[in-house]
Amino acid sequence: MAKSRHGRRELHSYTIRGMYTMNRTVRAGDAVFMRAPETEKDPYVAIIQKIEADNRNNVNVHVRWYYRPEETKRGRQRFHGIRELMLSDHYDVQSAETIERKVTVHTFKDYTELKFISPTDLYWRFEYNAKTGACKPGRVEVFCKCRMPYNPDHYFMLQCDKCNEWFHPRCVGMSNGEANKLDTYVCENCESGKRVRKRPSQRSASQVGPKRQKT
Ligand SMILES: [Zn+2]
Ligand SMILES: [Zn+2]
Repeated sequence: MAKSRHGRRELHSYTIRGMYTMNRTVRAGDAVFMRAPETEKDPYVAIIQKIEADNRNNVNVHVRWYYRPEETKRGRQRFHGIRELMLSDHYDVQSAETIERKVTVHTFKDYTELKFISPTDLYWRFEYNAKTGACKPGRVEVFCKCRMPYNPDHYFMLQCDKCNEWFHPRCVGMSNGEANKLDTYVCENCESGKRVRKRPSQRSASQVGPKRQKT
């Protein structure tokens, strides 16, 4: 174990104290919930960079924060999923005692492919600059009349049989139940003979396509 100038020792792992008996060992690279100082708030989410003990055996973790969309300058947008985080450039040192439990922060693509989602499954798709409020990538693929990026919480979408564009049932005046009963769907633009304008140059390479096919 490495010893630093201030008598700090780097630790390979830390065992979370508390009520969760499973999976309590955390290491660098793990994502965790950390207690927020205001108890009514959702826990903070961080990825552990380094674990250190000082000469009094206080354990501190060096972390990189994930921000929840509502904590960013632009706030929560309609396309942000309930389990969405942003990977910030904000680093910090916190007491290991504030760690509540281990979580998994998936990439967006991996998250959309999960068969089962547990309360500790979260995801990120944007990086966030905490000083400027900028998000990366600045542009992602958008869908529907509302021209919104894909929100995995609203995964039920209709695909037009002619132009292959995806639509939220609500945005085309249907309930999910009504949409589910359709065998085929042709969007307004295709019905009226108008071609949907697609601007491929605005689409980023990141795959944010809906996974669920219409049934
Ligand atoms: Zn829409
Ligand atoms: Zn269409």
